[in-house]
Amino acid sequence: MSDCLFCKIANGEIPSNKVYEDDTVYAFYDIDPQAPVHFLVIPKTHIGSCGEITPENATVVAHCFAVIAKVTKGLGITDFRVVSNCGPQAGQSVHHLHFHVLAGRDMTWPPG
Ligand code: AMP
Ligand code: ZN
Repeated sequence: MSDCLFCKIANGEIPSNKVYEDDTVYAFYDIDPQAPVHFLVIPKTHIGSCGEITPENATVVAHCFAVIAKVTKGLGITDFRVVSNCGPQAGQSVHHLHFHVLAGRDMTWPPG
């Protein structure tokens, strides 16, 4: 999608602090970290949010989770939280599916 911030980050048009990349998934540190470790995992293809996941595009979503397991392991992280905000009421500010991975501090429940 031409005017999407995360599409531009995934294709290198906008710089980011990369954690991981392969053919279909990109991961980078959040610009405004909410925990000592806070990175985002995104599909390179544009999917707007969790609400737009379908049987046709779900393979890359599953791959995002495999990447989360691989990257956290690589960073030596065993305890972490994965969050995906869907829609403005849930706090979504960038309309490109992304999974926040947060670690390095105690987490509260329920989230605010
Ligand atoms: P959300 O509010 O759930 O849609 O999450 C969007 C996240 O993207 C926020 O945590 C922002 O801090 C983060 N963000 C926005 N712009 C950038 C950027 N250029 N590089 C890295 N992270 C960003
Ligand atoms: Zn996009």
